[in-house]
Amino acid sequence: MMKIVSLGEIVVEVMATEINQSLAETGLFSGPYPSGAPAIFIDQVAKLGVGCSIISAVGKDGFGNINLKRLLRDGVDISGISVLDDEVTGSAFVTYKSNGDRDFIFNIRKAACGQLSLGIANLAVLNDCTHLHIMGSSLINQNIVDLCLAAINIVKSNQGKVSFDPNIRKELLSGNMKAYLTQILKDTDIYMPSESEVTVLSSFGNDAAAIEEYFTRFKVSEIVLKQGSKGATVFTPDSTTEIAAFSVNEVDPTGAGDCFGGAYIACRSKGMNIAESLFIAAQCGARSVTFKGPMEGTSTREELLQFFQ
Ligand code: ATP
Ligand code: MG
Repeated sequence: MMKIVSLGEIVVEVMATEINQSLAETGLFSGPYPSGAPAIFIDQVAKLGVGCSIISAVGKDGFGNINLKRLLRDGVDISGISVLDDEVTGSAFVTYKSNGDRDFIFNIRKAACGQLSLGIANLAVLNDCTHLHIMGSSLINQNIVDLCLAAINIVKSNQGKVSFDPNIRKELLSGNMKAYLTQILKDTDIYMPSESEVTVLSSFGNDAAAIEEYFTRFKVSEIVLKQGSKGATVFTPDSTTEIAAFSVNEVDPTGAGDCFGGAYIACRSKGMNIAESLFIAAQCGARSVTFKGPMEGTSTREELLQFFQ
């Protein structure tokens, strides 16, 4: 039996209703919406019918509840989510600007998901885990880094696979963080960077040389390159498979990479080949941007068939 586990932040997102609305002024907001990159990823996995859990933490509050209810409804095993009595669930307030940029106010480090550690995590969900997904955005403190490294060890020693989405911008890469990301890459089977992240963990500055290095030095078996509205490309040591993005009406781009990633890993875990998995993943990524709210656009096979008919 396949079982995919993700690890990291669960938050709600609250969105300004007007373009260019300031977070420093009183205004109208929409939300809370269930969110958090590892949560969106695992919700998409569940919607494609693969067994899955998430290791995370929420507070005993409405923001935690809306996430627990949604993940449970969509088929995620929520026993790996610790509900902490004395913490509040994480949140992100966001406003979109007319040039496409976003401003955020995050409450993550000091929220429930920032307290995740080996001490409070329910590691039992890893016992039958066949695939672990790690995201760079989750590595916000040493306890969580230690938890990720321990989880990777457990899954690898059970012959499971690891996928890794670096989900980080070059400017945010401190010395220590780069060392941890590199350590995780050494245990990674499927590496899933965005276009701007391809060379971040390489000693080379150009994409082709970086990709070659990930295969030869880090022994990665598959690289899934996410190129936004340009599409996506999967590299293996001896093949390149590309897909153009499906043409859709973008309403909210947040969460596309996580829906795409969850779908790709779910399909590969089911035994689908690279081209088939890429096709479903690109459909999930495209459909997700047509919904307001980061987790609102996760897709079942039926929803994809209906949307792309
Ligand atoms: P983020 O910038 O949030 O980290 P990401 O870089 O991880 O996201 P994207 O490349 O933005 O991920 O999106 C993943 C995939 O979803 C793309 O490769 C593409 O197939 C699909 N996708 C994303 N945006 C669009 C869009 N506007 N139209 C159609 N498909 C899209
Ligand atoms: Mg992107």
